Amino acid sequence: TPGLYIVATPIGNLSDLSPHAADVLSRADAIAVEDSRVTAKLLHHIGVRRPMIPYHDHSSADVRAGLIARMAREAIALVSDAGTPLISDPGYKLVRDARAAGVAIHTVAGPCAAIAALTLSGLPTDRFLFVGFLPAKQGAKATAIAELAAIRATLIFYESGPRLGATLAALAAGLGEREASVSREISKKFEETVTGTLAELARRYANETPKGEIVVTVGPPGEAAPPAAVDVDAALAEAMTRLS
Ligand code: SAM
Repeated sequence: TPGLYIVATPIGNLSDLSPHAADVLSRADAIAVEDSRVTAKLLHHIGVRRPMIPYHDHSSADVRAGLIARMAREAIALVSDAGTPLISDPGYKLVRDARAAGVAIHTVAGPCAAIAALTLSGLPTDRFLFVGFLPAKQGAKATAIAELAAIRATLIFYESGPRLGATLAALAAGLGEREASVSREISKKFEETVTGTLAELARRYANETPKGEIVVTVGPPGEAAPPAAVDVDAALAEAMTRLS
């Protein structure tokens, strides 16, 4: 059926492509892609050949309007190179304009490196903020981190190997003593998650440039530890004696 299909693709292990995703891609009249070489490999893996249209959020409004016009009568899929489209990837403006045009929009949910890393981290998951990539320049990075310091949530960052050391040092300086994790190559052969305080991780990666794709998570700012259950009991008993 016509419309826009947002299709998540693997972030490493190709087996993570769901049967639903493969089905939607094989039926799509066209697939809006970030890099046709990357998507061609995925389509080849599932034995599918479909027309591909390069799309970025900085594509011209005409390209976007053209895609949206097609969605009225054709099934147009949107994928990015890896993971969930729109998450540090193109697609937001396409979905925004498709919605404004009354297009039927479906999502085929699947892998997302941010959520995968959060679940691996051991940090609180009840409240989290996806920050994505910090600015590369030192000053802008420090400013962006300062703006996050008071937020009571686990923070999730995307990063590359060459920048990891500098980013961890900036996070340690700007956020202080917090638990954190570095997840690398999730769902791939050399997958690894290292946890520790920001200072420990900054030291560890100061002179090491890890290979591959990386997600950093940082726990919320420390809160005064709640009194232990025994202390509460003791305080209650003491209060009772004073009452009697
Ligand atoms: N849309 C993607 C998603 O849903 O996760 C993210 C795209 S963003 C351009 C690419 C970044 O995601 C990488 O620089 C890295 O920070 C993170 N990433 C993607 N795949 C990963 C993996 N297998 N392991 C760790 N991080 C990954």
